[in-house]
Amino acid sequence: MATNRTFTMIKPDATGAGHTGKIIDRIIANGFSIKAMKWTKLSLADAQAFYGVHAERPFFGELTEYMSSGPIVAAILEKENAVSDFRELIGATNPADAKPGTIRADFAESIAANAVHGSDSDENAAIEGSFHFSEREWA
Ligand code: GDP
Repeated sequence: MATNRTFTMIKPDATGAGHTGKIIDRIIANGFSIKAMKWTKLSLADAQAFYGVHAERPFFGELTEYMSSGPIVAAILEKENAVSDFRELIGATNPADAKPGTIRADFAESIAANAVHGSDSDENAAIEGSFHFSEREWA
């Protein structure tokens, strides 16, 4: 059943390149409202826990080192059909394949450093949101 929330992170390549404000503008302009947001940094252990489902994938080490290499912005977003609409807004994992006008097409550097995370299911959106935020932090 579709819910109306998703979870995102603006990744270290994008925060480091000064794209944070532009990406947040893009998210709001596309009808998402922000329920919770913070500027933070993942430790390597945090990144390994967050991406635990990818532990067997060959790029797990690269991914977790990259995700703990600099600041991120974590956020819970609300919109009707949030998960699928946000995946549409961010574009394909590899920016070379992302449709023009998507966030990854415009701001990502590579398949690894691809600017933003977006949950891939309602279930994962809830798990990932709870990883970063307690209910006290929601507005
Ligand atoms: P997403 O749902 O579009 O984020 O893609 P996936 O769930 O398949 O992968 C999770 C994240 O792992 C991606 O957003 C990338 O940051 C990273 N990733 C995916 N494929 C590769 C790869 O081939 N090499 C590296 N280094 N990172 C990858």
